[in-house]
Amino acid sequence: MAVSGLPPYDDGNIFARILRGEIPCNKVHEDQWALAFHDINPQAPVHVLVIPKGRYCSFADFSANAGAEEIAGFTRAVGKVAKDLGLEEQGYRVLTNVGEHSGQEVPHFHVHLFAGRPLGRMLGRPA
Ligand code: 5GP
Repeated sequence: MAVSGLPPYDDGNIFARILRGEIPCNKVHEDQWALAFHDINPQAPVHVLVIPKGRYCSFADFSANAGAEEIAGFTRAVGKVAKDLGLEEQGYRVLTNVGEHSGQEVPHFHVHLFAGRPLGRMLGRPA
């Protein structure tokens, strides 16, 4: 079910629980700013989620309220994950959903990294 991308932040969301170690994930990368793990329901041969360690509901919240160091650290982590997974040569897509019309389901900011095949046009048809 789609959620709002706006605060208040829900500490019970699934990615908050993964960050606290209450639920396992298939980890790809972790540093001071970010955790990256494989999506449980992959939409491409490579489908990795990168999430900040901070409590942000979506890109809208993160871009407005995260500190400069946090934004830089997170952004670099996304690029590093793609590079370390060897995605740069053939290319990849970075996507983030904000709120109801985007279909955002988890109210903790995350970017999707898709790769491993030609990814087609940017937008699918409306559901
Ligand atoms: P959104 O629609 O919010 O942009 O994307 C949420 C993503 O989180 C979906 O692609 C979904 O498959 C993934 N997801 C939901 N629950 C879990 C989980 O418990 N573990 C992992 N690894 N991915 C999850």
